[in-house]
Amino acid sequence: MAAIPVTIAPRTPTTTVAPPAGALVDTHGRIHRDLRISLTDRCSLRCTYCMPEQGNEWLARSSILTLDEIETVARVAAGAGITTFRLTGGEPLLRNDIVEVVRRLSRIEAPSGPVTIAMTTNGIRLPEFLPALIDAGLHRLNISIDTIRRDRFHDLTRRDRLDDVLLGIAAAAASPLRPLKLNAVAMRGVNDDELVDLVEFATAHDAQLRFIEQMPLDAGHTWDRQTMVTRDEILDSLSARWRLDPIPGRGGAPAETWMLDGGPHTVGVIASVTAPFCGNCDRLRLTADGQLRNCLFSTSEFDLIPVLRSSDGNPDAAGIESVLRACVWGKLPGHAINDPSFLQPARGMNAIGG
Ligand code: SAM
Ligand code: SF4
Repeated sequence: MAAIPVTIAPRTPTTTVAPPAGALVDTHGRIHRDLRISLTDRCSLRCTYCMPEQGNEWLARSSILTLDEIETVARVAAGAGITTFRLTGGEPLLRNDIVEVVRRLSRIEAPSGPVTIAMTTNGIRLPEFLPALIDAGLHRLNISIDTIRRDRFHDLTRRDRLDDVLLGIAAAAASPLRPLKLNAVAMRGVNDDELVDLVEFATAHDAQLRFIEQMPLDAGHTWDRQTMVTRDEILDSLSARWRLDPIPGRGGAPAETWMLDGGPHTVGVIASVTAPFCGNCDRLRLTADGQLRNCLFSTSEFDLIPVLRSSDGNPDAAGIESVLRACVWGKLPGHAINDPSFLQPARGMNAIGG
């Protein structure tokens, strides 16, 4: 296929160089195979590190991509080399058509074969949806849980829904979906005395706990480097309980992983702040309102709406591919969280898609 010259909408940065055809490769040689699709910015929780308690400016309902539009973008992306779709949000299970989204996407064939469908969720509606999601073709689940103490859960998420999350995790543990992963953001003075308990909770559910360093992505812009719990502190806490043996072969995965006391259980740490893994990043993001982002921390976006909602009523597949390639081509070598000039993106994590 010929290289497509890039013409992109006003909200996007422009580049005069045409990205190459073939795999979705950036100017640093990174091939992109993973598209995170945010299905909504709405959520049933209000985690302090993600959303404000009140006053959130929701995306306009008319701007949210429809089922057909999501499938259209996903088909073009798969044709260009994307092999994994991760559904996220906001809370993806708040989408009433979530089962149909999974069904449509799971039927897509990439040139290399069938695609993988994964989901990151707070778990609250899993007991209701899980059998239908598996039947529709869901392959993998990550469920977020930062504390297993009820009072803390309420303080942290501003909602009294721990029991619902626990039921969701139990449903996932009883399902055939493996590997099952549980995500926890480690926070000083909030849950940093609970790290061992969280790992034990995960292993009791045949799951891998993955600790995430807190990132400057909260809608309230309250992140503070001094209070974030680092990868090394997490490992120190866990080392008091288990021997940790590093597992090699991480590839493009965001988590470093360790075997606990020789296995079979494992633990992961996603150290985006203190040990960034940008050099191996293979991820792209699609927001619920049709903006492509080449990094969690991007301050610019590539607008798919003009090519998805063109005046003749038909999506422009070549245009979508051209915006995808331009987005990948425009990716910087790494995020700049640790640079004094770092600017937090305007969107909170719930509107980006984690
Ligand atoms: N609502 C779903 C959930 O919580 O799993 C999916 C969306 S949520 C934005 C995806 C992941 O991002 C969750 O694991 C959450 O803990 C993580 N996250 C949100 N804000 C974060 C932040 N400021 N730093 C680190 N991780 C964050
Ligand atoms: Fe909702 Fe997930 Fe953000 Fe928590 S982290 S507020 S569950 S989107």
